[in-house]
Amino acid sequence: MVIKLTDKKLLKLWRNAALERAGYKCEFPDCNIKYSQLHAHHIYHRSHVSLRYVLENAIILCPHHHTLGSLSAHKNPDFKDHLVATGVRTEEFFDRLREERNRVQKNTAVWKQECYDRLKIYL
Ligand SMILES: [Zn+2]
Repeated sequence: MVIKLTDKKLLKLWRNAALERAGYKCEFPDCNIKYSQLHAHHIYHRSHVSLRYVLENAIILCPHHHTLGSLSAHKNPDFKDHLVATGVRTEEFFDRLREERNRVQKNTAVWKQECYDRLKIYL
C-alpha cells in the first residue's frame, strides 16, 4: 500500500520521534528552566533534504535554548561546539552529520518513504 507522505506528516513524525528519544526534556546541558513547550530543532537546517526527516539531525530544546536565550541554537554561533564540549553530542557525530548534509538528495517520494520507514517505529 502506498500512502501519501507529505512534508507536514513526516516532520510531525520526526518531531515525535525526537521527543521520545529525548525523554520529553530539553537536551541542552543542565537545563533547569520551567517551560511549557518543547521544540524539535533541526541541527542542520531542513533545507538540507538529506537531513530533513533524519532523527540524528534533531535535538529537543525548550524555547529559551531554541531561540530566545543568548546561548540558544539560533543565537549562539558556537552552539554545536557547546554540545560537543558538554558531551551532549560528539565530534564524530557532527562529522557524520556534515557528510550527510553534503550529500545531494532530492525530496522524492522514494526518499520520503525511506525516511518514513526509519521513523515509523516511533508511531
Ligand atoms: Zn532548555
